[in-house]
Amino acid sequence: MLKLDKCTIANGDFLLNADFEIETGARVAVIGPSGAGKSTLLETIAGFRDLKAGQIYWNGKDLTTLPPGKRPLAMLFQDGNLFPHLTAAQNIALGLRPNGRLSTDEMEMVRSALQRVDLLDMGARKPAELSGGQQSRVALARILVQRREVLLLDEPFAALGPALKAEMLDLVADLVAETKTTLLMVSHDPQDALRITRQTVLVADQIAQAPVATAQLFENPPPSLRDYLG
Ligand code: ADP
Repeated sequence: MLKLDKCTIANGDFLLNADFEIETGARVAVIGPSGAGKSTLLETIAGFRDLKAGQIYWNGKDLTTLPPGKRPLAMLFQDGNLFPHLTAAQNIALGLRPNGRLSTDEMEMVRSALQRVDLLDMGARKPAELSGGQQSRVALARILVQRREVLLLDEPFAALGPALKAEMLDLVADLVAETKTTLLMVSHDPQDALRITRQTVLVADQIAQAPVATAQLFENPPPSLRDYLG
């Protein structure tokens, strides 16, 4: 279980409070108005921001003072963060080893990740030689080889068209189910949340609220969400 225990998060003058738990293996959307603190929340869980107060636990282990690389989680940002001068396979290899030098077993892991995202014959291509959707698949494969227990997605497919975005969301849902990964996904689109998550954390009015059932939330939105949905 991921536990945010009486957390106060600061981003400049902005403050966000969070005090809730997420079950292991849950798929959770993070929804709310622009500027409400969705990215700030994920960055804090990932360890890129310090807490002003409170603690973050994963399965009882206190993560609060651990640096990002030591936390059992992976984060995927909007642009995927691929290195343009490296091939798809080399970009994925960086998920395993910062210097990219792999053992035979690790090379096999890269191959199998490429296969899992349907890019087995494109491992030698650089990002510029891949479509947007293929680049997103490489970024996902890089996360896949890391085998982290929690996956944080910050609107990773916002730049893709609707059909491709839906395809990527379904791939994410399949991957996290196969690997029993806990998923937190920021999105501004209720359809994304309804498509692959069961629960949603609403971030509004300086509070990241405890997760509630996604379908019910959108059927009967509270005022802060109703304002946002328009
Ligand atoms: P969201 O992801 O919901 O759009 P963010 O987490 O990006 O919101 O931002 C939350 C708040 O943090 C913003 O409303 C702003 O007040 C503050 N903030 C974000 N980025 C910065 C920054 N670079 N410097 C100062 N304050 C920032």
